[in-house]
Amino acid sequence: MSKIKKKVKTIKIDADKCNGCRACEIVCAGFHSTPKYDIINPARSRIQVITHRLKNIWLPVFAGEYTPAECMGRDIYVIDGKEYEECAFCRATCPSRDLFKEPDSHLPLRCDMCEDDPPQEKPLCVQVCLNDVLIYEEREVEVGEEESVDLAEVGLRSLIDKHGFDTLVDTMVRIAEKG
Ligand code: SF4
Ligand code: SF4
Repeated sequence: MSKIKKKVKTIKIDADKCNGCRACEIVCAGFHSTPKYDIINPARSRIQVITHRLKNIWLPVFAGEYTPAECMGRDIYVIDGKEYEECAFCRATCPSRDLFKEPDSHLPLRCDMCEDDPPQEKPLCVQVCLNDVLIYEEREVEVGEEESVDLAEVGLRSLIDKHGFDTLVDTMVRIAEKG
C-alpha cells in the first residue's frame, strides 16, 4: 500500500483549565449554521462540554468518526468519586445516542477543524477559549491512501445505513428532477 504525506491538525485538551463557559460550543454551532452565525443551536456544535457542576468538572469532547454500529463493550469512568455514564466521553457518532447528530436531519456531525474558504488561521473553538484549554497543533504523518475519507462520504454512508441505498437513490433522483 502506497503512503502519502498528510498534514494532521490536532487540538490538545488541557481539561483542568476548563471553566465550562461553553464559548467553544457556541462559536462552533454558529459557524456550522446556514447562513453562518444565523442560528446558535448548541446541538449543532462539534464540541460538547461534559459537566458535573457540583465537582467543577468540565471536559470538552470533540465529535469523532461516524460508526454505524453500537460498540459491544461499555466503560465506566470514576472521577473524584463520581461515576460517569458509559458513553459520556466517547467521541463517536453512533446509533446509541443523540450526541453529535444534526438536530433536524439526524446526520452525523464530525469536527472538521472549521474548514473554510479562506481557511481560518486557527480553529474557532481554540480562538475563543480564553483559558487556553484548547491548544492547536499541526504535524505531518504518513498514511495509507485509502485513509483519506471525505465528509460527504461519511454523510452518505450514514443515510444509506438509515434509509437503505434504493430509497436514497430514489430521493436524489426526485430532488434532481425538481431542479
Ligand atoms: S471555551 Fe474553553 S473554558 Fe470555555 S467551555 Fe470551552 S474549553 Fe472550556
Ligand atoms: S475545531 Fe471547529 S469544527 Fe471542530 S469543534 Fe472546534 S469550532 Fe467546531
